[in-house]
Amino acid sequence: MVNDVSQDVLRRLAAHRNGAVLSLFLDLDPSKVPTAPARQSAVDAMLHEARRAVDGGKLEHDEQARMRAALQEIEGRLEPAAIPVEGARALAIFAPGPNDTVEVLRLPTPIDGQVVLDVSAHVEPLLHLADRARWCVALVDRSHASFHLGNEDAMPLSGTLDDDVRGQHRQGGWSSPRYERSIEQDVLVHFDHVADALARQLRDGSYEHLVLAGQQTLRSELEGKLEHDVRARLEGWVDLDLSGTSAEAVRAAAAPVIAQWRARCEQDVLARLTQGVGTPGGHGVAGLRSTLAALSDRRVATLVVGKALTSPGSRCPACGLLGLHLAECPADGAEMEQLDSIIEAAVGLAYEQSAEVVLPGPAPELEAVEGIGAITRF
Ligand SMILES: [Zn+2]
Repeated sequence: MVNDVSQDVLRRLAAHRNGAVLSLFLDLDPSKVPTAPARQSAVDAMLHEARRAVDGGKLEHDEQARMRAALQEIEGRLEPAAIPVEGARALAIFAPGPNDTVEVLRLPTPIDGQVVLDVSAHVEPLLHLADRARWCVALVDRSHASFHLGNEDAMPLSGTLDDDVRGQHRQGGWSSPRYERSIEQDVLVHFDHVADALARQLRDGSYEHLVLAGQQTLRSELEGKLEHDVRARLEGWVDLDLSGTSAEAVRAAAAPVIAQWRARCEQDVLARLTQGVGTPGGHGVAGLRSTLAALSDRRVATLVVGKALTSPGSRCPACGLLGLHLAECPADGAEMEQLDSIIEAAVGLAYEQSAEVVLPGPAPELEAVEGIGAITRF
């Protein structure tokens, strides 16, 4: 499955402050839209609802004209021949997206279809998809290697490496000690090449975390060849044969390693949050009101928010300040916008200040902060 959502994409969407944004979500779950005609009628229904929202009289004249033009572009992008459904379980469409263009994102998981016209992009349904790290799974044997780059949604093959090892062409069972040594030498040279390739891809930013697959007997030798930086990214070994292994099998084998890593990261963030909140003068705030204040002060490093949390709130259209039930901005006196969900605005403001956003599963540490808290920079 493909996933076009990243924290960078959400950051760009959240930064949009130039008029209304239309957010469209199209479910492509094969159990709900099994055929192309079913998909087309879902697209038509969504566009019909979007047109009604745009024509509904909420928008200024210029804005309405702009949105109608955007809708026309969306229509073109979703025509049967053009719609990017390959490998996607849902689409999220934003108009205007970053740089005033229409942004079409492919999602790896189904999503409830909906149409939202608001002053900012409706990114809440995408948040859980944004914290995907970049992973490499390298399958290595004595003379070949294949590299898969991706995450828990998909792990496509990105490259292979083959070294001609003389031992493969050996005939019969005769082998002198000297010949054996030369084979081992070739394997070690092959491992050098694998280690070089992994180091290069790490420097390129192709991956952040590494999983290796290979025979038990080769593991310590290969690990010994890895550069220090690469070894630091190694999260685990899995059992996979190099030949005939599908991208899906690689994804499935790596998934438990990725899940363990994710659980450790969440534990770490929750521990730092608990410590920051519990220490006098510490770098942590707990609860919605204090978290919104810290976000408004632009001092959040990591926003931690429970997946199910919802609450109304208010936002200053002039300076971006967030509050719970404010009629007027305490900073500049502007009339506050009243929002159905302040959580999205909080996440948007977190992205704007380059904070990390973490959405852990249910945890006592999260309950202790009323479902939302932040690790602060100062
Ligand atoms: Zn203000």
